Amino acid sequence: MTGWVAIAGLGPGREDLVTPEASAALAEATDVIGYIPYVARVAPRDGLTLHPTDNRVELDRAAHALELAATGARVVIVSSGDPGVFAMASAVFEALEAHPKYAASDIRVLPGITAMLAAAAAAGAPLGHDFCAINLSDNLKPWALIEHRLRMAARGDFAMAFYNPRSKSRPEGFEKTLNILREECSPEHLIIFARAVSTPDQAINTVTLGEATPDMADMRTVVLVGNAATRRVGRYVYTPRSAT
Ligand code: SAH
Repeated sequence: MTGWVAIAGLGPGREDLVTPEASAALAEATDVIGYIPYVARVAPRDGLTLHPTDNRVELDRAAHALELAATGARVVIVSSGDPGVFAMASAVFEALEAHPKYAASDIRVLPGITAMLAAAAAAGAPLGHDFCAINLSDNLKPWALIEHRLRMAARGDFAMAFYNPRSKSRPEGFEKTLNILREECSPEHLIIFARAVSTPDQAINTVTLGEATPDMADMRTVVLVGNAATRRVGRYVYTPRSAT
């Protein structure tokens, strides 16, 4: 039997936000590989081997998947949200570049609902005009680059979504982010702290930039920053489709 690798996004948390395509791949899989909490979302069954691994071993994990598929395994690599958004899909292609012997592998990327879109839907429509997504983790890029992109996005009046806003190893990073925004935007700018979206712990907290504090974000939070026109209507937050 020919092996394959599917890189699947499991969505932000709730079971009905997993796509039927991802569920079908999991039903056919012989092996599931991924970060421990994501693999924990897959129900064990006969004939399925679960390979939970720690964070920060993405390339090893990707190479392991390619190696298993080469021996005939049907491998699903699981990510949360969408696998192409700060997740495993790029790591698999990096591993493919590093190991040309797997060049003919059958690889499919199965899209999922990424955190910023689930968060935006929970709040209303804050990403209804132009926006960008920035990973605030400096694991894979220097802080100076994050700061530059943040500043340029703010000057361009993009709405923004921040992934990995704050961690125990970088407690000061999000404070620096807020300070840069305060230099570039008005204090009335709306910010949505969307935590654990679509899970039982979901919390959506909308404040102005003037009111925002670093402790409002943690690693289960995606932060949405509105553009200059983003506003409240009733209990919703939305960004008009037009820039004028
Ligand atoms: N591939 C994932 C992102 C992985 S990076 C996706 O497409 O969503 C991990 C970051 O995603 C977290 O630090 C947090 O910022 C965000 N995130 C993931 N799931 C979330 C959820 N249910 N609610 C809020 N933020 C979430």
